[in-house]
Amino acid sequence: MAQPDFCSAGKTGATLSVDAARLRAVAAVAPMREAEDLPLDLALGRVLASPPTARVDLPPFDNAAMDGYAVSTRDLAGDGPWRLPVSGRVAAGDTRSAILQPGTAVRIFTGAPIPSGADAVIMQERARRDSDTLIVSDAPRAALNIRRRGEDRRAGEPPLPCGHLLTAPRLALLAGTGIPRVSTFRKLRVGLFSTGSELQEPGSPLQHGQIYNSNRVMLRALLAQPWIELTDYGILRDDAGAIRATIRRAAEENDVVISSGGVSAGEEDHILDALRREDATLDVLKVAIRPGKPLTVGRVAGALYVGLPGNPYAAAVTFSQIAQPALRKAAGLTEIQDTWIPAVSGFDYDRATGRREYVPVTWDRRDGMGRPVLQRLGRGASASLSPIANARGIAVIEPDMPHVSEGQPLRVEPLLE
Ligand code: AMP
Ligand code: MG
Repeated sequence: MAQPDFCSAGKTGATLSVDAARLRAVAAVAPMREAEDLPLDLALGRVLASPPTARVDLPPFDNAAMDGYAVSTRDLAGDGPWRLPVSGRVAAGDTRSAILQPGTAVRIFTGAPIPSGADAVIMQERARRDSDTLIVSDAPRAALNIRRRGEDRRAGEPPLPCGHLLTAPRLALLAGTGIPRVSTFRKLRVGLFSTGSELQEPGSPLQHGQIYNSNRVMLRALLAQPWIELTDYGILRDDAGAIRATIRRAAEENDVVISSGGVSAGEEDHILDALRREDATLDVLKVAIRPGKPLTVGRVAGALYVGLPGNPYAAAVTFSQIAQPALRKAAGLTEIQDTWIPAVSGFDYDRATGRREYVPVTWDRRDGMGRPVLQRLGRGASASLSPIANARGIAVIEPDMPHVSEGQPLRVEPLLE
């Protein structure tokens, strides 16, 4: 949703709720279309671009789920115990077709094909062997301990839908159905830079008035996904020309550009001015979120632009709440990430209403229903790094809540996934 008239940006204009801002950020990107073929070995963490087709049934043949004896339940009618001569042996990997002679049993091992004529496998622990004879006291029901051909997946069906992340078990499923290569979306190109004349990289000496750059390494870590290809444009001084040139270049070279700092309406905040001069459209300018109010999402030169606040905690929260869902859509991911857990407050807190607040929390006990009992870390100061570093999650406090009381249910988001 473009807002062409954004000369008023920053100071005036409607403030969006966090959910509305997230929706706008998501609406501002189109899902990835370009795909590349990869062997399964190289596809971990990539996004499935088109549904592959299972080449074989999984499992490809009826097989034993246990080590034991293949029998026919027809031979075990009436009253037991029954004595069946052991007439053969079949192990996993035997490719000849075994046959069960009526009135006998076949020694069988897990994964071996079921001999024709057999319809159950008796676990070896449940049977007694007397030399070449099997003694069965309890007749098995038909189909016991048999894994049926195609019970997991059928040949010709897609084992996974498009837009799913290729995790280790999903790669195993594709391999099991005989698929050697997959079509994945190409990596999302993301450009990153930090703004602030006060910033130094750790390792360089710090002069009075300077601070070390926390956002760069944090955002690089948050963006370290197999489906992202990151270009780091480093630190930019608070210089309008340099910021504008980097915005233009990064937007031309990437699908998404993320910056930190410089998005407020102060004189040393040049991002909004640079975006205006680059004919950007702005979708999100002000969000009722704490921390993280100065936040910009828009489009510039075909790329999504996300201007995160400079304070590291604010940058982290706005990244995870607003930027991340848009990045996932842009990369072609369709799975909903809904990973919050129910918890209860272990603290009292009087607060100013109007903004949804994200509070770093930890816990060392759970209540009778298994919910974490939350302790609040720090005072939520968005410039502090220790609270978030020691947090186990972020509690969400809704805008209209003037008071949080001990025992009150709260939602906890996992820490920055
Ligand atoms: P800004 O959004 O540029 O006004 O910055 C807000 C606050 O965050 C200021 O105190 C900055 O010094 C601080 N800040 C900005 N960028 C970073 C960064 N990359 N690492 C740590 N602190 C930062
Ligand atoms: Mg700044």
